[in-house]
Amino acid sequence: MTPSVLQAPGFQRRKVGDLIVTALNDGFIILPPTILQGISAEEQDTLYRAAGRRPPFATAINGYLLQWAGRTVLVDAGAGGFMGPHLGKLQANLEAAGVTPADVDTVLLTHMHTDHIGGLLAPDRTALFSRAVVMVSAFEIAYWRNRSNQDSSPETTRDAFDMSANVVAAYGDRFVTFDRSNMTPGIKAIELPGHTPGHTGFDFTTDIGPFVIWGDICHAPEVQCPRPGVTVVFDVSPADAMDSRRNMLTRAADEDLLIAGMHLPFPGFTRIVRSGDAYVHHPGVWQYDALL
Ligand SMILES: [Zn+2]
Repeated sequence: MTPSVLQAPGFQRRKVGDLIVTALNDGFIILPPTILQGISAEEQDTLYRAAGRRPPFATAINGYLLQWAGRTVLVDAGAGGFMGPHLGKLQANLEAAGVTPADVDTVLLTHMHTDHIGGLLAPDRTALFSRAVVMVSAFEIAYWRNRSNQDSSPETTRDAFDMSANVVAAYGDRFVTFDRSNMTPGIKAIELPGHTPGHTGFDFTTDIGPFVIWGDICHAPEVQCPRPGVTVVFDVSPADAMDSRRNMLTRAADEDLLIAGMHLPFPGFTRIVRSGDAYVHHPGVWQYDALL
């Protein structure tokens, strides 16, 4: 018989203190060497190979579901049907994990690039999450609402001006902004500007310490942990993105944090260790039992 190439559903649960965290894979993109800036293709290849990787160098796109005390919170929603056949799988993986869009009470957004917000919308651009409040940084939506930013915005992500407007229109008064003061209880916003002006990580208070979702701090952790100065063509301010990455990597290593990230290899968790002036990422392994 012809062997099947079907893959297992892309969800993975783990208990983090009093949270149940479900990593949800949306799919992947191949990162051609031209995406990473400040490093040659040969140097990228060397760093990937040193981390045990061989081409093609795919990077994951993930979202995360957090459940605790009756709350069901999704952080980022993947690309939906707007970025081709390798993406848009988060909703099916959510359902495979036993959760429907109507169960989600809040969606937190790390930023408003299409690979993080397209999945908020059905193909006809209506709201897919029928009762969720969608929360984003006030700095973030201000940037995408201002069309005069369009010409100076990285060309590869300019579709986010339209996509973010579609999300605002679909969610109406369920689309709300946060600043430093009005974040949901138990969750702190971490301002990590640079990739976009309002790019935000989230720090969840658990009974075993903080659990951090760092958003897009690394698109290629095998390259950007050893070389935090390497940026991506999608960064609105590469210099700020570099600073945010160094700060976040330093904190992750110093506090031995469990980290989740939208472009970490699935199952989507890592720990960061210092190595001189650089960092090493130790990707999380398969979680044999969510409760261990
Ligand atoms: Zn992204």
